[in-house]
Amino acid sequence: MIDENKKPPVSGDEPAAKTLNRRNFLERASAALAMVGAVPALASAQQTRELNGDNHKGHNESQPGPDNKTLDQSEPDSVWPPGTDAGGQPPFKYPFSFAHKRIEAGGWTRQVTVRDLPISKKMAGVEMRLISGGIRELHWHVGAEWAYMTAGKARITAVDQHGRGFVEDVSEGDLWLFPGGVPHSIQGLDPDGCQFILVFDDGNFNEFETFLLTDWMHHTPKEVLAKNFNVPASTFENVPKRELFIFPRDLPRPLEEEKKEAYAGSGAVPNSFAFFTGQMKPTKETAGGSVKIVDRTNFPATNIAAAIVSVKPGGLRELHWHPNEDEWQYYVKGDARMTVFSAGGHARTMDFHPSDVGYVERSMPHYIENIGDSELLFLEVFPTPDYQDISLAEWLAHTPSRLVDQHIATGEDFVRRISKKEAVITPE
Ligand code: MN
Ligand code: MN
Repeated sequence: MIDENKKPPVSGDEPAAKTLNRRNFLERASAALAMVGAVPALASAQQTRELNGDNHKGHNESQPGPDNKTLDQSEPDSVWPPGTDAGGQPPFKYPFSFAHKRIEAGGWTRQVTVRDLPISKKMAGVEMRLISGGIRELHWHVGAEWAYMTAGKARITAVDQHGRGFVEDVSEGDLWLFPGGVPHSIQGLDPDGCQFILVFDDGNFNEFETFLLTDWMHHTPKEVLAKNFNVPASTFENVPKRELFIFPRDLPRPLEEEKKEAYAGSGAVPNSFAFFTGQMKPTKETAGGSVKIVDRTNFPATNIAAAIVSVKPGGLRELHWHPNEDEWQYYVKGDARMTVFSAGGHARTMDFHPSDVGYVERSMPHYIENIGDSELLFLEVFPTPDYQDISLAEWLAHTPSRLVDQHIATGEDFVRRISKKEAVITPE
């Protein structure tokens, strides 16, 4: 497999690593699947391509007018949709690369909300980078905030409704959850700060309009602040006149020292707002990859459920849907394609790359296929405490084989051989 991946691309003179040309993708996927000894997912993909013709040289397929070669190369399933795609489907992808980036001295941030991606009504996402020492100002917001660290290290703090404190350090792969209305902060640590993705259970969320400590203090009369804390009004002379938002400062003190100070008098929050994913075994591991499901059952503080999915080259997050809630996706590593099917015979396939957002409405069936030659890592996030899905295989395996065969004419043997336990990622 390693040798196969080092082969130059079959056609054209594009750089090998980023080329998603179908022909070399198929070769790589074949090699990857041959290694794990599973064929069904590839067989169907190949059929689709043969029906369509793989070279797209037909006169009816030519494009004598303008074309955006840069984007077309990264979106092969939009340029040449599989023959199984049909009808319209609202776009279910928005790349963070398209989002406005707000750059401050301590780092930067950008967001993808319902204003950018109209079907993402129930969730929004924010990417943020904090340099070493960079602080995301003490603040809160109405909705809950779920986060996944994509690089580096951070110190996070919060205070709950009983005045109990929370101070913790998190690293790449760790999560946190701040309930709605709970004030919190994030600070990048040595040696190079951090980057993370935030997900909010409100599609209309706006990171640029949160309740900020400096903003509130500045908009409260100084004599009221003086009365509130029983100190002279001059104490507040240096409160900034503009929000700090993201700003650089010295690094925090040792973790234990800051915990001790914050927990004095009221103690720590009973259920940690941090979740250390590295300490968790995969919920399910197959030849095709692995998944960690983090929801209320193993992370009691959360009201947002998530699956962290790793798919090997050629592997497939199997055909499934979520009966209870919409799914917000974030692609961390690798290249994928997803087809979403909707009632009325509509189906559309789109391609996904690192830092792209995907969105699948409740109960809409879909799959995610690794079409690259390296690990695909992506997040499925749901605005509910409980993770739920139903897979196509599960459905068929637990329905009388006679009845299934009467629909799809596969023979009953095929139905009886489907695993009685959900695979999640194929090949099993
Ligand atoms: Mn926040
Ligand atoms: Mn899903």
